Amino acid sequence: MRSASGGPRVLLRRLRETMAEQVSAQERLDKIVVLIAANMVAEVCSVYVLRIDNTLELYATEGLNREAVHHTVLSAHEGLVGLVASEATPLNLNDAQSHPAFSFRPETGEEIYHSFLGVPILRAGNTLGVLVVQNRAKRTYVEEELEALQTTAMVLAELIASGELSALAQPGLEPAARHSMQKVGAILSEGIALGHVVLHEPRVVIKDYIAEDLPKEIKRLDTALAKLRADLDRMLERGDVAEGGEHREVLEAYRMFANDQGWSHKLHEAVATGLTAEAAVERVQSDTRARMLRSTDPYLRDRLHDLEDLGYRLMRQLVGQDHAPSREQLPDNAIVIARAMGPAALLDYDRKRLRGIVLEEGTANSHVSIVARALGIPAVGEVPNAPGIADPGDAIIVDGTSGSIYVRPSQEIEAAFAERVRFRARRQAQYLALRDRPCVTKDGQKVELMINAGLAIDLPHIEDTGSAGIGLFRTELQFMVGQSLPRTSDQLALYRTVLDAAGTKPVTFRTLDIGGDKALPYMEAVIEENPALGWRAIRLGLDRPGLLRGQIRALLRAGGGRALRIMFPMISEVAEFDAAKALVERELTYLRQHGHTLPERIDIGTMVEVPALLYQLDELLKKVDFISVGSNDLFQFLFAVDRGNAKVSERFDTMSAPILRALRDIARKSHAAQKSLSLCGEMASKPIGALALIAMGYRSLSLSATALGPVKAMVIDLDAKKAEAMLGPLLDAPSGSVSIRQKLTEFAEAEGLAL
Ligand code: PEP
Ligand code: MG
Repeated sequence: MRSASGGPRVLLRRLRETMAEQVSAQERLDKIVVLIAANMVAEVCSVYVLRIDNTLELYATEGLNREAVHHTVLSAHEGLVGLVASEATPLNLNDAQSHPAFSFRPETGEEIYHSFLGVPILRAGNTLGVLVVQNRAKRTYVEEELEALQTTAMVLAELIASGELSALAQPGLEPAARHSMQKVGAILSEGIALGHVVLHEPRVVIKDYIAEDLPKEIKRLDTALAKLRADLDRMLERGDVAEGGEHREVLEAYRMFANDQGWSHKLHEAVATGLTAEAAVERVQSDTRARMLRSTDPYLRDRLHDLEDLGYRLMRQLVGQDHAPSREQLPDNAIVIARAMGPAALLDYDRKRLRGIVLEEGTANSHVSIVARALGIPAVGEVPNAPGIADPGDAIIVDGTSGSIYVRPSQEIEAAFAERVRFRARRQAQYLALRDRPCVTKDGQKVELMINAGLAIDLPHIEDTGSAGIGLFRTELQFMVGQSLPRTSDQLALYRTVLDAAGTKPVTFRTLDIGGDKALPYMEAVIEENPALGWRAIRLGLDRPGLLRGQIRALLRAGGGRALRIMFPMISEVAEFDAAKALVERELTYLRQHGHTLPERIDIGTMVEVPALLYQLDELLKKVDFISVGSNDLFQFLFAVDRGNAKVSERFDTMSAPILRALRDIARKSHAAQKSLSLCGEMASKPIGALALIAMGYRSLSLSATALGPVKAMVIDLDAKKAEAMLGPLLDAPSGSVSIRQKLTEFAEAEGLAL
């Protein structure tokens, strides 16, 4: 059935006129529903707006009882309208009342209408409301009518997002779009930041939605598509890594989509309804994004992400906007929001202006998080649809202490957070005052606090925290942030810089811990079912010794004439340590033969992070110069919880008997063997973790630079003997509950320790 009044293009033109009229918000909405109903030969047209309390309020109707406007409110999952909103997909029914989700609202008088066509009002993947047409007759709306209604919904989305409708709302029940909201995600990097939104992948600003000249728009679309395909071909021909740093596989996927007839067809269809080429791309993007948010299949989500990226490229092509915000465009107090971000991209932002980060993906152990922590930038991850929740320039607060973000916060929230920022700054100043104080417990036990590092940007922290050195230098970070494999000379240069910065303080270099989940962007990924248990770290190093030998050589050369400490990751049996140590001997011989200055002293040790090593400690300790416990991995393997999977990573407590008993055994054995012992996992970065460790005999800890102050403040007030006397019996006694966090907290309170 064709529309009576000239089809969607005429409708769009009339809508544009209505949008420009100087009338009240309600009048504008009322006119819009009349126009749509008339154009689509529908007896009913209604607009429901999603409110901040997650309900849908009827804002305008043609055909239903007028009295129901602003009175009928549905929960976001109620009825057919709720179904359209929650699923973010259209619903086309010729007999609505026989649908199981149908819910009858007598005040609307809708019982006489049988057919129903509802579409979500979407903007950047967010549902802002629902647009519905209904007819008495049992008719099925045809594809063009659905298209037309979706196109119209885009215009309504802009109207709702403009904030104009807030005037019609009861206080506290305003439209959800552009209202303040809180979202809870995961903590990636501690700290609090107040600032303004910058989108890492800027949404293209569309000025004209409605086409003036249809053939011209089709031509624009075709030209842009052709250019997109040609660009992709050129990038793929040119070589491995393209302009944006994308990986070849991603580009291949882009090319496949760019040549996909289905995608092209959808875009053309959207233009045919009367949209400009760029608005047509946005229409199709919005559907893609909504599908992506609903999908739980990781493979499909990845493909939809690719398709979305491609859509952005096409849109930029059409409106001629640059890829990322340039440094000059970055506002002061920028909070960058991205779907995902690599560490290199983060380092590209101007450190002076970047205050915080919000990601849709990314966990605390991802590399972007490690870099954010190194830079001291608060970051929150796992925020659903992060790039769609705010517009550039919106006020936003990142609370990296609780994992929340506040978009367009109220004045009260903003004031409360500003006060917390001032409070934290005062505390930071107090920690700074502790910098030069010896790190000794109340009962005279010396505790060595070192920092974890991995990039040149970490080096100033050695001095400004007053640390005893670097207890863990993660050499893989240099490999991960770059666009290509660092040459041996680049590695040598970094290691020299590190040793120079540390001066007489010790640095423990850990050899490459790559592979598995720590994939290098420029190396072909090995697909493994369980990457954390896979071909990684020393396993890869021993199987492909070229890389490891090159690194060892760079380390030995950097350490020429000074003391050097080398540590191997993921050692699972003593023989692996022997083999790795043999590589060091071999490189030493080589350098000696070639007349290089050798280190004055070399200490070789290993991480203890694979549970099997716990049962080889006697043999291992005879061979190593030192050990350092990697509590992150040890915890992951002992409890069998994936540290990168937010669903399970917090399921068990690190402050629990099985973990602490294992750590105590390690301490006892290494003391008996008189081998130096440290712990460099996240546990040491928490005052409560440090308290337990000191109580079990640990006297050297390596932690993140930002944690050094709080941990030192705790150590200075601690009576280590008392702590040992408290914890020992708890670990010896069989207990119903495995967690001893509560007992540790009570002890800290009684002792006046700040945790
Ligand atoms: C650990 O596993 O505890 C550790 C310090 O190493 P990483 O976090 O780099 O795996
Ligand atoms: Mg580890």
